[in-house]
Amino acid sequence: MRHTKGNIQSIEVVRIGDIDVELNRRAIKNIHLSVLPPNGKVRLSIPNDTSEQKVRLAIVNKFAWIKKQKADFVGQERQSIREMVNGECHYLWGNKYRLKLVDAKGKYSVTAKGNGNLVLAVSENTSADNKLKLVNRFYRNEIQRLLKKLVPQWEKKLGVSASSLNIRKMKTKWGSCNVQGKRIWLNLELAKKPPECIEFILVHELVHLLERHHNERFRSIMDKHMPNWRERRNLLNSLPLAYEDWSY
Ligand SMILES: [Zn+2]
Repeated sequence: MRHTKGNIQSIEVVRIGDIDVELNRRAIKNIHLSVLPPNGKVRLSIPNDTSEQKVRLAIVNKFAWIKKQKADFVGQERQSIREMVNGECHYLWGNKYRLKLVDAKGKYSVTAKGNGNLVLAVSENTSADNKLKLVNRFYRNEIQRLLKKLVPQWEKKLGVSASSLNIRKMKTKWGSCNVQGKRIWLNLELAKKPPECIEFILVHELVHLLERHHNERFRSIMDKHMPNWRERRNLLNSLPLAYEDWSY
């Protein structure tokens, strides 16, 4: 264990690149960087008189290392939900389900029942990996069903049009947007969150087609079309399986 010297004089959070960094000013001599479990929070302890530029450099020089640490934490958390056994907890659109395995011969299926069971019909000897693939395919279909409704509405409202909209597993992002190619990706994990969350990420990425940067203009477009986007963001980051450090 590392003993932390010096009382904390102040704590603030700064954003460097796509990383939120908690800055702790202390009566210490050297800069100390840590990436903390379980969510990969980045903390930089700095001597009281450290300049902004020094802070920036300390982070930028360690970017690759920080990303690697953060990805490892996410990976660990994911591993623990991959057993795919009876009674295991899974989420769909913000609701909690219990996994129920039933024996099926021919056609495998995944069904979310009103009684809170997520019924996975597979043959007995299906591997955990293949069960997970089936559930992920189910999540993908669920997202596509919702997007079919949401995308035309929002494209019309914002006066933009994405050339492609894909769903994929991403380790540290809820969504991303290639502004030039007008291509948007949404994280498969969003199927686990309440629908307001994926709608927020979708709108966020579509707004990038109007404004590339997270600046005042970006926020004012969001405020105009989705006044409660901050609440949706908080919802996204406060639920089970949330990772504080995820970005979009
Ligand atoms: Zn963004």
